[in-house]
Amino acid sequence: MEVVAGVDLGGTAVNYTIVDQQGHFLIDGLCEHPALAKQGPDICLQQIADGLKIAADKAGVALSDIVAVGLDTPGPASASGVLSARGSTNFVHANWASFDIREGLAHKLGKPVLYLNDANAGALWGHYSIFGPNSKETSVSIVIGTGNGGGIILDGNVVKGKNGFGGELGHVLIPYQSIAGTPGMKPECNCGRTGDLESVCSLTAIERTLLPYFLPRYPGHELGKVDLHTAAKLVRGMAEKGDSLSRDVFRVQAHGLGLFFDEMINTFDPDALIVGGGALETGVEFQRWFIDEIRAGMPPQREEQVGIPIHVMPNGDTAGARGAAIEALKLARQGGLA
Ligand SMILES: [Zn+2]
Repeated sequence: MEVVAGVDLGGTAVNYTIVDQQGHFLIDGLCEHPALAKQGPDICLQQIADGLKIAADKAGVALSDIVAVGLDTPGPASASGVLSARGSTNFVHANWASFDIREGLAHKLGKPVLYLNDANAGALWGHYSIFGPNSKETSVSIVIGTGNGGGIILDGNVVKGKNGFGGELGHVLIPYQSIAGTPGMKPECNCGRTGDLESVCSLTAIERTLLPYFLPRYPGHELGKVDLHTAAKLVRGMAEKGDSLSRDVFRVQAHGLGLFFDEMINTFDPDALIVGGGALETGVEFQRWFIDEIRAGMPPQREEQVGIPIHVMPNGDTAGARGAAIEALKLARQGGLA
């Protein structure tokens, strides 16, 4: 029996999945092991290897059945998995600087390892969940969380880019001035840009721009009685219950996403648009409202492109590991491991 594994190295946990050659996932739900990235590469990679044995046991396969491993981590890292020389939030230990984590794990496990950044792995999982294995379709995924991540799958393959920043969609500028009902709004992003997708469409944007913009328009609103950080986290739940201010906040985000998707439609003519993340961890009714608002925010589309579907991404907490496994599976199925 030949299977591949997906390993999602996050800030606090490593999440694993195992998938067989037919694309069946052999572990239901989460299979987590504590992440020790703060202690540097030696300890972290050993920890990943130890956890992989536990995952194999859980899936009912032998370690030797695993013919390839897909690894995803937060960036910044090169397309082939060399971490940034300047370090990053998740890789603060000095020995991580310029460390080739793909090669390091391949050496530790004695198996081929493929690398994706976590956003691209999530996008690949969203794509696979709609189109299955052997897909030649094109999709654009957006994950709305604290920031805004995503990815582009072009003709079935992840667009990684020359420097590993392919699919860094949150920092693409959008014509935010054309979002209805927002005169004078000036959304700024941590990256230094004004008016990119993340500056409108993220939890950070709610705290930094959207609540400060809308609260003065709703004098006495209960969200004005707590600090912005706390208030930002309450907006989704209140929007779901129909609160007008909170709906305004999410409508602006949906319309911003509509403008962005319009850019992607004109760039890629994709088969599907996919949206996920914390913003959509809600009931189906709110998800439908949000997707209708995304469409309402789009400029008029060509007749041929009006029907491009907008899907909600499934399984948020296992998306990275599953996407990484799919990347490894693709290579295994193409015979690239021989
Ligand atoms: Zn930005």
